[in-house]
Amino acid sequence: MTLEWVGAIPGKRESRRFEGDYILTQRDIVEQREHEDAVSFGGWAMDLHPADGLYSALSPCTQWHSKGVYQIPYRTMYSRNVDNLFLTGRLISVSHVAFGSTRVMATCAHNGQAVGMAAALCLKHGVAPRAVPIGELQRELLKRGQHIPGLALHDPGDLARLASVLTSSCFELEELPPSSDVQPLDVSRAMLLPVAAGRIPALTILVDVERATALDVEVRGSCRPANFTPEITLHRQRIELSPGRAQTVHIASEVSIESPRYLTYCLLKNDDVSVYLSDLRVTGVLSLAQSMNKAVAKGTRQQPPEGSGIDSFEFWLPGRRPGGKNLAGSAEPPLRAFCGANVTNGVARPGLQPNAWVAAADDPAPSICLRWQEPCTIARIELVFDTDFDHPMESVLMGHPERDMPFCVKHYRVRDDTGALLFECTDNHQTRNTVHLPAPAATTELRIEILETHGAPAAIFELRCYA
Ligand SMILES: Cc1cc2nc3c(=O)[nH]c(=O)nc-3n(C[C@H](O)[C@H](O)[C@H](O)COP(=O)(O)OP(=O)(O)OC[C@H]3O[C@@H](n4cnc5c(N)ncnc54)[C@H](O)[C@@H]3O)c2cc1C
Repeated sequence: MTLEWVGAIPGKRESRRFEGDYILTQRDIVEQREHEDAVSFGGWAMDLHPADGLYSALSPCTQWHSKGVYQIPYRTMYSRNVDNLFLTGRLISVSHVAFGSTRVMATCAHNGQAVGMAAALCLKHGVAPRAVPIGELQRELLKRGQHIPGLALHDPGDLARLASVLTSSCFELEELPPSSDVQPLDVSRAMLLPVAAGRIPALTILVDVERATALDVEVRGSCRPANFTPEITLHRQRIELSPGRAQTVHIASEVSIESPRYLTYCLLKNDDVSVYLSDLRVTGVLSLAQSMNKAVAKGTRQQPPEGSGIDSFEFWLPGRRPGGKNLAGSAEPPLRAFCGANVTNGVARPGLQPNAWVAAADDPAPSICLRWQEPCTIARIELVFDTDFDHPMESVLMGHPERDMPFCVKHYRVRDDTGALLFECTDNHQTRNTVHLPAPAATTELRIEILETHGAPAAIFELRCYA
């Protein structure tokens, strides 16, 4: 071993952990337990390093993932026996094993946001941390963009909730048109699609076949509706294929689901088959491959030791751009999960469904309009755009092919009921836009016109407005 680099300040992964009213443990993470006072969330693996260091007989690093993100309760964020002491970032009340997951930077930042807001409410109400009203804390956090899994924002001050939502068009996933790009089925590949309650749609995928073969296809779901680990097989089919270019593989099933959720349509590894890709990328639609991230996994399946309390499951990962294109194909009936009402449903990222309004790919002038029966006075508008939570941006060393996320709206205008221009933004690249109008507008209509995106069809997760 050679020493290549050394930090200027020694940093230890493990550190003090304080005790709050609740101590988050491995079980909270693996079982994704729900907490009434959830104010933050985590999603990193339980990333454990042996206490005796580099020459330990134990593995230098084990990273055990839960099947999805987990809530972090507020009770982990103040001291159990010092009345006026908050805990946040890496210091929250967690066990050693849970700390392996909660100590990462983005999670620490979310905890910091929660405690900052709680401190403001302590001052507002003149109370100590333990007495902060949880409903108000969660609402104020959600209003400012803090994601809390399983919670939707219900904000009585939001005038958009009183409006009808009208759109120039809504995307329907009927076809993902093929490009000239073809990818071998050297690993199992899949489309993660938002499916409505009822009989699941059929999916047709375009393939090239080298030699006569039998292709196995499956439709899978997750044991928890809001997870994306495809461990439950709902439908399995073997399709006999003859050699030839641009053939269709039809995945059809009689299976029904009770509530809307994402399903994974899988084409299992087959060296004689290649799949066509599409250049169309759409908010809330993702392709996956059964693969691994070598930096954090030793195989394409998590296989924990017997009795460790950790789940085993397959890793199905989105590809990094410029890869990660959708598989070309068509859905019957089309998927209609992208309607205008999504912008006021209180959830500003994909979950059980995309939770976004998406305009049709061929809409020449996409727009979304809030319409009230009586004029409203609007001074502030909150918009949330799609900067792609599925594309991790760990560091510039990973390489990023674009300067702006393709799903993000670049140029938009806001108009009132007379068509007068209230606001224009010509070069947006950010998730959240807070628009303070130069003067409050009294109007029965607020129209957002989208003139340009960074590549994908126009999409908005959330639209709120305030007097
Ligand atoms: C070796 C190592 C590798 C890691 N790798 C990763 C990784 O790959 N990805 C990842 O997400 N996380 C990683 N982490 C974890 C992550 O970096 C930390 O857990 C996280 O940054 C902690 O954030 P924090 O805000 O809670 O604390 P800190 O970032 O430690 O911030 C606390 C701040 O408080 C200041 N401070 C302390 N006392 C006082 C005082 N009395 N007055 C004023 N200021 C004070 C400190 O100077 C410091 O700036 C790693 C950590 C280590 C040590």
